[in-house]
Amino acid sequence: MSGHPDGTGRTPGATLPSVTERDGTTKESGDARTAPEPPCDSAARCDGTAASLGDYRAAFHAARHPMAVLNRDGLVLAANPAFGELVGAAPDDLVAATAADLTDLGADPRVWTAYREVLCGRSDRLRCTRRLKQSDGNSVWVEVTVEPVADGPAGGEERVLLSVSDISDRHDLLARLRHLQMHDPVTRLPNRALFFERLAAALETAAFEPAGTGRIGLCYLDLDGFKAVNDTLGHRVGDRLLSAVAQRLTRCAESAADRGPGRGGHLVARLGGDEFALLVEDSTGTDQVAELAQCVLDALQRPFDLAGQRLSVSASIGVVERAASGTTATGLMQAADTTLYWAKEDGKARWTLFDPERNAHRMTRQALSSTLRPAVDRGEFTLEYQPLVGLGDGRAQGVEALVRWRHPQFGVLSPNRFIALAEENGAIVELGRWVLERACYQARAWQLAHPGGQPLFVSVNVAVRQVWDSDLVADVAGILAETGLPPRLLQLELTESAVMGSAGRPLQALQALSDMGVRIAIDDFGTGYSNLAYLSRLPVSVLKLDGSFVHGFRSQEHPNPADEMIVEALVALAHRLGLTVTAECVESAEQAERLRRIGCDTGQGWLYSRPVAPDRVEALLDAGRACG
Ligand code: C2E
Ligand code: MG
Ligand code: MG
Repeated sequence: MSGHPDGTGRTPGATLPSVTERDGTTKESGDARTAPEPPCDSAARCDGTAASLGDYRAAFHAARHPMAVLNRDGLVLAANPAFGELVGAAPDDLVAATAADLTDLGADPRVWTAYREVLCGRSDRLRCTRRLKQSDGNSVWVEVTVEPVADGPAGGEERVLLSVSDISDRHDLLARLRHLQMHDPVTRLPNRALFFERLAAALETAAFEPAGTGRIGLCYLDLDGFKAVNDTLGHRVGDRLLSAVAQRLTRCAESAADRGPGRGGHLVARLGGDEFALLVEDSTGTDQVAELAQCVLDALQRPFDLAGQRLSVSASIGVVERAASGTTATGLMQAADTTLYWAKEDGKARWTLFDPERNAHRMTRQALSSTLRPAVDRGEFTLEYQPLVGLGDGRAQGVEALVRWRHPQFGVLSPNRFIALAEENGAIVELGRWVLERACYQARAWQLAHPGGQPLFVSVNVAVRQVWDSDLVADVAGILAETGLPPRLLQLELTESAVMGSAGRPLQALQALSDMGVRIAIDDFGTGYSNLAYLSRLPVSVLKLDGSFVHGFRSQEHPNPADEMIVEALVALAHRLGLTVTAECVESAEQAERLRRIGCDTGQGWLYSRPVAPDRVEALLDAGRACG
């Protein structure tokens, strides 16, 4: 380990003797005072060809730069008057003093280590910035350089030169520039850059300093409807409002910090536009940060008087509080951003607390949604089939194709997890086409494998977006032609809401499909408008009664006559209108028997079979198709 804060290497030219070699009279650098004519040292020749030891000594004394020669233990051997002036002591009194104490090299562990490395000869130079308190109470910013004296006395102890330059002016200028760079001119609050710097430092401190709580909290705030203020009243009023909001936030943060146990005040920053952040270092739990958020909402509730304009605003706040270890600035901000979005979504003018479960759900939704399309190409979907059974004879007449996603990360997912997402992002078109094709191939394969018997039809679910966003009629026609499946062996299930009010394209599509010989079924009937009169005018031939009706049948001991009467009436009406009826979710023999008595045509449910892989359907066909 070099121990160098700046990583620089040895620079022999900076040591005392070689400095004077550059200029025998003016000594050291341009700002060094001209030394008085040095007296001739008896030990050196005074012939003008080389500087004598006396020259060096005089230069050392006259130099404006504070300098001290140290031994390898860091004790002062000699100090020049400038150094004495800097530390407020006579140079002679400084002999044997500890140089590190005089120049504050011990306060920062990293500086201290680097300094020790130079003293013991393992490193060539230390250069660091220190702030020194002077005897008059003022402080100066200095740059301290420590490096070995290359040409120490022959055979004698090696020396180290410590030199100091006053950089207060430069430091002040840089500090002013940095302030400008790190603050927002409108509100005078720390800006985004400073906020992230402080956040990173806070996370580091909290993770490595056991004294604090090891936690961090953040309120991420966005004004509701600020754009309207800017648009209607102009940017000047908008800026004034932001500045007034900043003042109220600062007051909240100050009073919360006065009350709370944490270290120092809470940082309030403007992250841009109408977004602000309040950072709570060493937070004590969600309650503390939520209390701060509530205080901010209360403070913003009072209207603002801005040069004759009376304005009211509200804000939405995302609140995140967590252990600092394992938390990154990016992770914290992402959580805050999501939570702020929830606060807006939940109705604005409120604070919302980060909820890991809600977030996991969102992340999963996002992950699923974005990988749906590629998953179709990668062949991650499979179909299971569930028999549709004649209630009279208990024989399977058809099967419903139900899609599953074999997700490489989340395992097998049921359609309830992804069909709605696929409808939202349009992937349902590709997925639906794949399901249709796969199911038709399968049904045709069963038909060919059992040429003697009554073939099974396949019922395929179709989402409304497939009707709108793709040419369903052409797809179905193409797939039937390609697979050789007779149209009468295909049934398409659409939900009631998908066909309700359908005019134009969907209606034409349904009509064309029906004309082709494909059967149309209304899925989950009874959960929507249940408008049979309307449905009878559509080219629909099957009603699939929603499972809730059958659930309502209850057991023999607790019959629910109303449900049974409704189903009875529905079945009768459907039959009068030329529709056949399938009951979903038939789970018990008792339910099946009552449905049969009522006149229901087919049933589907666990009583007969769960949805199964195609080879299990094959076994069913081989066994003569009797279910249950
Ligand atoms: P659905 O069309 O009403 O399908 C019937 C659902 O009821 C299936 O759920 C099935 O597993 C379940 N089920 C069957 N028998 C019983 C029973 O006796 N009791 C109970 N409690 N449930 C039973 P699954 O497979 O999870 O499918 C859910 C829904 O996802 C389907 O409801 C359908 O709307 C949709 N879906 C499935 N596959 C596709 C597809 O390929 N495309 C489209 N667009 N939607 C699909
Ligand atoms: Mg269905
Ligand atoms: Mg259904």
